[in-house]
Order: sequence, then structure tokens, then C-alpha cells
Amino acid sequence: MIIKTEPEFIAPYLRDASNFSGGNAEEVVIPETSDELADFLKNETRPVTVAGAGTGLTASRIPSGGIIVSLERLNIIGKEGEGRVRIGPAVTLNELQGFLVPTGWFYPPNPTETWASLGGNLATNASGSRSYKYGVTRDYVEEVELILVDGRKTLLKRGLKITEPLTFEDGSKIIFPNIAYRSPECKNAAGYFIQPGMDWLDLFIGSDGTLGIFTDIVLRLIPRPDDFVSGILFFKEESSCWELIPKIKSLDGKKIDPCSLEYFDYNALKRLKSKHKNIPNRSKVALFFEQDVLKMKDYDLILENWYEFLSEENIMLDDSWFAQGPKDVQMFHDFRHDVPAIINEENSRAGRVKLGTDMAVPDKYFMSMMQFYRETLKANDLDYVMFGHLGDNHLHINLLPEESERDMAQKVYDQMVDQILEWGGTVSAEHGIGKLKKKYFAKMVGSSGLKDLNKIKYCLDPENRLGAGNML
Ligand SMILES: Cc1cc2nc3c(=O)[nH]c(=O)nc-3n(C[C@H](O)[C@H](O)[C@H](O)COP(=O)(O)OP(=O)(O)OC[C@H]3O[C@@H](n4cnc5c(N)ncnc54)[C@H](O)[C@@H]3O)c2cc1C
Repeated sequence: MIIKTEPEFIAPYLRDASNFSGGNAEEVVIPETSDELADFLKNETRPVTVAGAGTGLTASRIPSGGIIVSLERLNIIGKEGEGRVRIGPAVTLNELQGFLVPTGWFYPPNPTETWASLGGNLATNASGSRSYKYGVTRDYVEEVELILVDGRKTLLKRGLKITEPLTFEDGSKIIFPNIAYRSPECKNAAGYFIQPGMDWLDLFIGSDGTLGIFTDIVLRLIPRPDDFVSGILFFKEESSCWELIPKIKSLDGKKIDPCSLEYFDYNALKRLKSKHKNIPNRSKVALFFEQDVLKMKDYDLILENWYEFLSEENIMLDDSWFAQGPKDVQMFHDFRHDVPAIINEENSRAGRVKLGTDMAVPDKYFMSMMQFYRETLKANDLDYVMFGHLGDNHLHINLLPEESERDMAQKVYDQMVDQILEWGGTVSAEHGIGKLKKKYFAKMVGSSGLKDLNKIKYCLDPENRLGAGNML
């Protein structure tokens, strides 16, 4: 076990991609094995914050005191029978995807940030452009080795229901508390996942580093699609793009069946032009679509179906881009990744803490949401970028205020939260709550919801030492 107390060693662990500053810690602890970590925690009384790769956007890995546990040495990756992979929590998405390429297996969740660790992905229940069809991280976790902040350890497998006790290696048990809270129905990453009769595993996934530490992970895989039909469609009118979404959904996967439907507004395209010069000048917004092709023999038919469907829509078809091979597919993913990366760079240069929404609403409010965003943003003279998961009714609006406009931007944000909550939406569909969105989360779940979630926290961490300051 490595223990470091030098400020210059601790400093990098006090950052993530949110630009939040002001964290502090007494030391960084780097275990070589999970047993070493469990033994260490049994004798520890200070607050503990787990560090993943630091790509989080909500400051959830930034501690305010206590110790940091970095699992960077737990980075082994190996096959675990057919359609399974066993990984240490420090393995990055990039490493996992690289490992899987020659195996013929595929891990569908594709959060845009591939330098994130899988431990971090589990803690935030990360999702990505393909979650529209394939679902989120939670849907692919089969088993974890989990350590509580008091050092108790358990092997937690899919199928162990919360109606049964959670048993640890030392024979101790935890009973799930009786609570009324339920997670919202739309795509959601805010708060603990709670549904009647759910698995214990699902409680820990997406718990923002506050309930347990993942030290070993088994993921479910699916056969790798032979290829993807994909393209970036450009539109002269915003509404032409928005109207496409309910039309695609109404087909119910029959003619075309995309796995990604990702949006780029005018301000996103404006910024992307520095890297992608051939974006058509007249385009106002763009949509990245992708459909998995399981068997190559179906590729031409799927492509034809897309052309046929799109030719009847109001799209700048001649100026749009269609992938001609894997290189283009990768380029389109880079195009998508470049948007948050450019914004994060802009924020860093301006010394600005991220002020970005991550909200989603149920399907029936999609059009109202788009119109509301347009009106609200037009009414306030702020710089912003809007992009994200149009298929999931889940957009990221990054407000980019000058210092003097910060209060105004905050008001716009608050206004958007109020409306989204009125529609039964969530304040975070992807990044989690961390330390930056607690105010909105409290609004979303209300005092009785918070009380229920605190009951769960109390069962597993009665002294509130793990990931203190996150979510609750
Ligand atoms: C450019 C960019 C694009 C992004 N795109 C997406 C996206 O498409 N989808 C998405 O969901 N997110 C996205 N993110 C956010 C981020 O990548 C995810 O939240 C990611 O899951 C964080 O992983 P990490 O390893 O960096 O975790 P960290 O930032 O280090 O930590 C995040 C949380 O996980 C906890 N944690 C880490 N490891 C463990 C563990 N082993 N056990 C228990 N808790 C742990 C930490 O304590 C903390 O609470 C993006 C970020 C950036 C910068």
C-alpha cells in the first residue's frame, strides 16, 4: 500500500473536469489489492473519498478533508467465460474497448469520455450516445466485489434482491430499509436507484461514490456488430431536426432502428468548425445518427432504408455526411466528443466552474422541452452551447457567462430546473449530482425523498464518511 502525504502528490487528486476548486485531503492511499484496502479501512475513522480517473463533471471525487483512496493499481483485465469480462475498477473505457476488439465481443455503453475508469462509470452509472438503444452502464454489470467504508467486503451478484439481506464476508448482514421513494421513470442519474424488488447491485451502481467501493467488476458483453451505418445530418431549421425524433420513434425500430441520435445546436457547430472545416455554412443544427449492423449482409439494406426515410424529410441531404468505413465512424464519434472537450477547455481558460445542464424529461414532453429551451435562451443574452442525447430527451446546455453575467446565468439555470421538474424530469440524467447539483437534487426529491435516501446511506455508512458532501 502506498501512502502519500506530500501536497504536490495530493494536488492532482483534488481536481476533476468540473473545474471545482477548494478540495483538500490529508493523504492519498493507493492499495495494491482489495484485501489490503479492506484491512486498512477497518482501522480508519476519517472521511474517505474514492478517486477514479478524474473526468467527472460534478466534483464528486474532490474531497473536503479526510483521505483519498485511489484504486489505480487495481487495473487487471481478463475474459470471464463467454460474453463476460472481469476488470479492475481502474481500467479505462479506452483500455476495455481496445481489449475487446479482437475478441468479437462488444461493451455497448459508450460514454463520450473514454479516459474515464470503469469504477467511475459504475459510480455514476455513465451512459453515452448509444444508450438510446443499448441502455446504460447498470444494464451491463453482472457482479462486483464491494467494500464498505468500514472495511466489510462482499461479492455482490446480479439477482440478489433487496428483499433479502446483504451479507458480508464476516457474516454481518444489512437489511434494506422500508422507504417510499422511487426513482423517476425517465433516463436518470440523480440519486440512488430505487425500484421495488430491485437487485442490491443496482443500488450501488450510480451511488456517486457514497455507498461502497467497487474493487472488482464483471461486465456482460454482447456480440460485436459487424459495422455501423452512421451519418451527420445538417438542417437549415432547428424544428426540422426536432420533428424527426418523434417520427423515428413512431417507427418502433421497424424500418430504421438507430442506436444513437445526438444533437448539435448552432453554437456547437460554430465551435466545431475550428476542427471540422467542412461543416456546411448554411446549416443551423445537426444530428448524428448511428445504427448497428449485426451482420454485414444487411448493411446495404439498412443504408437504403435510411436514405429512403431521410429523402422525405427536410434535411440538407446533399451536404450531410455518411460514413464510408470505420474511419468515418470514428471521426463522427470524435466530432461528438469534441463538443464537451472544447467547452471544458473554454471553461478552464476562463477559470469558470462548469454551469451545464444534464436534465431529461419523459418522452411526451420532448417538443415542449425543445421550445422552452429555445424561448428561454433567446430571452437572455447569454453565450451557451446545447448538444446531446436528443433521442433520450436529454440535452446538455452549457451556459458560458462572463464573470458579470454569472448571476443571470444561474437564474436561467434555476428557471430551467423548475420547468423540467414540473414535467416530471430529472436534474441529472447522466453525470450524477456530486457536490455541484445538490440544491437541484433536493428540489427534485423533496424533503421526504431526501429522508428516505438518507436512511439508505445510514444503513451502509452511518457516520457519513464515504464520499461525504456528495448528493445528500
Ligand atoms: C469531455 C467529457 C465528456 C463526458 N461525457 C460523458 C458521457 O457521455 N456520459 C457520461 O455519463 N459521463 C460523461 N462525462 C463525465 C465522466 O466521464 C463520467 O462521470 C465518468 O463516469 C467519471 O469516471 P472517472 O473514472 O473519471 O471518475 P471520477 O471523476 O474520478 O469520480 C467520479 C465518482 O466516482 C466515484 N468512484 C470512482 N471510482 C470508484 C470506485 N471504484 N468505487 C466507488 N466509487 C468510485 C468517485 O468517488 C466519484 O464520486 C464526460 C466528461 C468529460 C470531461
